[in-house]
Amino acid sequence: MTLHHRPDTASRVATLFASLVPGGLLGSRIAGESLAGAGEVITLVDPVTGAPFATFRDGGEAAAAQALEATVPAFAAWTSMPASARGRVIWAIGQGVRAKAAALAELETLASGKPIRDTRVEVAKVAEMFEYYAGWADKLHGDVIPVPTSHLNYVRREPFGAVVQITPWNAPLFTAGWQIAPAIAAGNAVVLKPSELTPFTSLALAVICEEAGVPKGLVNVVAGYGATTGAAAVAHPLTRLVVFVGSRETGARIAATAARRVVPSLLELGGKSANIVFPDADLDRAVLGAQAAIFSGAGQSCVAGSRLLVHRQIHAEFVERLAAAAPRIPVGDPLDEATQIGPIVHGGQWAKIDGMVKAGVGQGAVVATGGGRPEGRNDGFFYAPTVLDRVAPTMEIAREEVFGPVVAVTPFDCEEAAVSLANATDYGLAGAVWTRDVGCAHRVAAKVRAGTFWINSYKTISVMTPFGGFGQSGYGRSSGLEALHAYTTTKSVWVETAEAPPVGFGYAG
Ligand code: NAD
Repeated sequence: MTLHHRPDTASRVATLFASLVPGGLLGSRIAGESLAGAGEVITLVDPVTGAPFATFRDGGEAAAAQALEATVPAFAAWTSMPASARGRVIWAIGQGVRAKAAALAELETLASGKPIRDTRVEVAKVAEMFEYYAGWADKLHGDVIPVPTSHLNYVRREPFGAVVQITPWNAPLFTAGWQIAPAIAAGNAVVLKPSELTPFTSLALAVICEEAGVPKGLVNVVAGYGATTGAAAVAHPLTRLVVFVGSRETGARIAATAARRVVPSLLELGGKSANIVFPDADLDRAVLGAQAAIFSGAGQSCVAGSRLLVHRQIHAEFVERLAAAAPRIPVGDPLDEATQIGPIVHGGQWAKIDGMVKAGVGQGAVVATGGGRPEGRNDGFFYAPTVLDRVAPTMEIAREEVFGPVVAVTPFDCEEAAVSLANATDYGLAGAVWTRDVGCAHRVAAKVRAGTFWINSYKTISVMTPFGGFGQSGYGRSSGLEALHAYTTTKSVWVETAEAPPVGFGYAG
């Protein structure tokens, strides 16, 4: 289906939101109630047209405090339920997401500018996240350690209590599900602060959680700015764990605030991931893979393959093919089924991307295609898929995250040089290699410092496998069993079993 008449964003968003959140009030969702903020008015702008389409008020310190207080009785109620009953509730959340999938995807697309074909996939993945962790809820048993004394020693995995989760705008519902599902499966209560640019679907997810039967106050969403609402939630005395997904600078600041109160944090930050192509690769697939790696989501993806390292033997041909293909990728209205690249989420991000491209060109990079608005699109925040060639590893465009549809190409001469270039970044989120040589593929996978690595593929992701960064891409792991461990802490319990045990003075054993 091709969309010929784009609906009015403001009225369509209001209708969809009211169908997902009773009353349709855009504010915070705390203990099953929607509450308007009392702080500064935040105006949301349609990324397709640049026109305002919704406003709400910053929740601020009051919303953060109210949400954290609401977690106390909810956490007590949740942890007193049998684990299998919690699992059934979490499964029901997944079913709730499936039942509302169409509205969630359309709302996400309208508010964030992400193509509908992508948001549909993301919504389905959110359902999978809850279904996956539902199964874990009653399997998170501890351990029995064969200690050398007469004790029975067992280890319990216990939830932290109130977890504050702070998320970015590039995949709002996906990230909310990614963090809420393991947090509550491990027994925690949640206060999530979505990006002020994209609060809608996280609020809708809180309502789905309530409808599925979580205790009121177990999953709360506070809407507002990071520096006010987010910072207040991080600093609140009831907060026991902080999970942050976003930029390196903000993450470091938040972790420092948490550390001052000796509260642990888990950081999922940005990346500058290397996509490495050897001459023996299936080049048709590698060209497609390189496009998908950087241009999907308009490059607003933490794992984007934003550095393309190509063997010198095929460098010229590869860049030519990539540059020829890029302008043919459908850029346009994200509600259109055919669109593969939508707009950048807001004007400030558009300007940052353009500034970084211009700076790269100023330092000697060559624009093979793109660099600015796509032809015929003078409205909204569209950016043309851009290939920058002859990028030296020292340039800013090779080192810093652009978070836009811009790939920096650098040639290499041998495997060792490819690995060394791939590792010439402070980040370490993801990477990929394209080759038919099995040995080379595994050697490179082992040597590149990154939390996720693909061989002859890019951007496959599943809730079943751990995800997170090396270096300045963060620490801690989301998804998989690792996320359940990250959302719990251990308690070692010693039980004396001897009939007449000596009571030692000092350490025993
Ligand atoms: P950002 O760091 O500007 O904001 C992220 C969140 O932090 C937002 O909700 C924001 O309101 C909040 N925030 C800002 N200042 C705060 C403060 N002082 N205290 C508490 N909260 C605060 O990031 P962004 O621009 O929204 O998102 C883009 C970034 O996110 C990119 O760097 C991208 O790579 C990263 N990201 C990482 C992952 C991952 O899993 N590693 C996934 C998606 C996005």
